[in-house]
Amino acid sequence: MDEINLNGPTAFLDRDGTIMEDTGYPRDPSIVSLCPNASEGLRLLRKKGYRLVVVSNQAGVGRGIISRNQFRAVHARFNTLLAEAGIRIDQYLYCFHHPDDGCSCRKPATGLVESYLRQSPHGQSFMVGDKLSDLELGSNLGMTSFLVLTGEGNKTKEKLGAENTAYKAFPNLLDLAESLEKAGSGASD
Ligand SMILES: [Mg+2]
Ligand SMILES: [Zn+2]
Repeated sequence: MDEINLNGPTAFLDRDGTIMEDTGYPRDPSIVSLCPNASEGLRLLRKKGYRLVVVSNQAGVGRGIISRNQFRAVHARFNTLLAEAGIRIDQYLYCFHHPDDGCSCRKPATGLVESYLRQSPHGQSFMVGDKLSDLELGSNLGMTSFLVLTGEGNKTKEKLGAENTAYKAFPNLLDLAESLEKAGSGASD
């Protein structure tokens, strides 16, 4: 097992379209697969001392499209694929609410991450995802947000327009992790 720096920063990661291929309301564990270079990127982030925390809206549950059991099966399969690649996610923060519920945890709302951060330092933590709600979550937390061009990433980049300078884009998680390494902005010391 990798050494974890408990005082290190956290990489907050979207799940669908960022780590796991986005199939839209995933219900079937047999079709769960990982995005290109996602496991390599996560391994490098861990090596750099980042804790790995997944933040994911799963409104399919609140909408009644995904049953609790289907959700659990997909989650278990996802976790197994990561374990097989030598990666352990430190914490999962899931919102199951319907978008109309007005909850405080559906991205870009900050509820889940804020309660997590109460027990952990902010440091050089960052948020990464493929949708605007991911990027806005980071902004709402005063954190750097990165866009990955997996999942809906290219559509999001288009929406942001050519003038976007707020959110740096990377082809996938590995390219992001490598750029952090080059910049020396990781948590290793
Ligand atoms: Mg996503
Ligand atoms: Zn919620």
